[in-house]
Amino acid sequence: MILYNSLGQTKQEFVPHTPGKVNMYTCGPTVYHYAHIGNLRTYIMEDVLEKYLRFLGYDVNRVMNITDVGHLTSDADTGEDKMLAGAKREHKTVLEIAKFYTDAFFKDCEKLNIKRPDVVEPATNCIDDFINMISVLLDKGYAYIAGGNVYFDTSKLDNYYVFGNMNEEDLAVGVRDSVEEDVNKRNKADFVLWFTKSKFDSQELKWESPWGLGYPGWHIECSCISYKHNGEYLDIHCGGIDNAFPHHTNEIAQSEAFLGHPWCKYWFHVLHLNDARGKMSKSKGDFLTVSLLESKGYNPLVYRMFCLQSHYRKPLTFSYESLDNTAKAYDKLINRISALSKAGEPDLDKAKPLIDSFKEALDNDLNTSLGLTSVYDILKADVDDATKLYAINEIDKVLSLDLTSGKGATVKAETDDEFAAEVEKLIEERTKARAEKDWATADAIRDKLKDMNVVVVDTKDGIEWHVEK
Ligand code: AMP
Ligand code: ZN
Repeated sequence: MILYNSLGQTKQEFVPHTPGKVNMYTCGPTVYHYAHIGNLRTYIMEDVLEKYLRFLGYDVNRVMNITDVGHLTSDADTGEDKMLAGAKREHKTVLEIAKFYTDAFFKDCEKLNIKRPDVVEPATNCIDDFINMISVLLDKGYAYIAGGNVYFDTSKLDNYYVFGNMNEEDLAVGVRDSVEEDVNKRNKADFVLWFTKSKFDSQELKWESPWGLGYPGWHIECSCISYKHNGEYLDIHCGGIDNAFPHHTNEIAQSEAFLGHPWCKYWFHVLHLNDARGKMSKSKGDFLTVSLLESKGYNPLVYRMFCLQSHYRKPLTFSYESLDNTAKAYDKLINRISALSKAGEPDLDKAKPLIDSFKEALDNDLNTSLGLTSVYDILKADVDDATKLYAINEIDKVLSLDLTSGKGATVKAETDDEFAAEVEKLIEERTKARAEKDWATADAIRDKLKDMNVVVVDTKDGIEWHVEK
């Protein structure tokens, strides 16, 4: 398989350290809020990569951290811990926030058919591992203590800017964003490994360490969690492109200084999902979630297909208009596939070239949009239905669009029997409440129907309803 590697910035043949085995690491979510569909674009494309590697026969060990401490509001190590900001916003503890949004993240993943990684490890589980790695970095002279914090000394490395396309100006932007520059740093690019002193001393979670009561920096968690579960050699590390610098750059600095040898061979970065205002981000206030799409009637898999229709290395702009086009295409596809006869046995020899054309697309830097067209080619192919269904099922192990069991583009549609029965029942109860002049109940039911996007219309023939998208 050929993959674009951010390290070297070229397309390269993917060859893992150990033949047949892939150690994979994914930067997990910072669980202070719901994931927006931009974050989920990254996880969808990583899921396709993981599944495709398995499809090729690799034994994959995929590790993901859950950031529940240390990720500050600016990636340049300044500002407040995002978790604390989330806890304050919702008048809850950091641990309550972490649990709630971790569960919410995996629920979203499930709806998008994103497989749960083999290992999921919250940062707060690994404090001893962080302390150990930081101690080694101090012993080896790669770290220093200043103003109560432990810093990584980037001047000790021959090449800190490994991805080539970053410079100190980029970091300075991060610093400017949060106004204050950390005067303890020896070099502008140095970053915190362990905090004991911060302007934000209301930090809720703190641990004893050789450097005093404090908490880890964000970057150290990924180096440690990867090392803990994937060992000394990592084959592929994934994340959104905004993580390349400084986060991944810092991970490489720490891990290689700690290990004393090159660490990760391939870096897979997914470009951003943008909306009309630019990069979708949680700090911009209203952001799109899977639940919001569902509440508007979309099957979350339509969003998955929307992502697969474009290449992961191109920015993708979201609009409801484009999503509607995908929804129509998804419906058509599901209808065509469900019309295939399930009788008979597939002809595996005839299925092979059909599946091979899909492989050819994904082998070329995970070209999912071309991969999707293979499904249409299969439908047009001169083979029997059983063979078509077999080939589509095989491909769907990677695409994960429920192509052969799909329910279509809309989740809560008038055609959904269970949903319709619930709506009818609510309307009946509302009519009864109104007749009894129980306005409170009638209003509560009206609100519930509104939340379900159901529009109720009184016509001369009685009450009618439909789902508003
Ligand atoms: P976070 O929860 O903020 O730590 O981000 C989780 C993942 O989403 C990271 O891999 C980010 O790089 C990625 N990400 C953040 N914003 C976007 C976006 N607008 N489009 C795609 N990926 C994103
Ligand atoms: Zn990370």
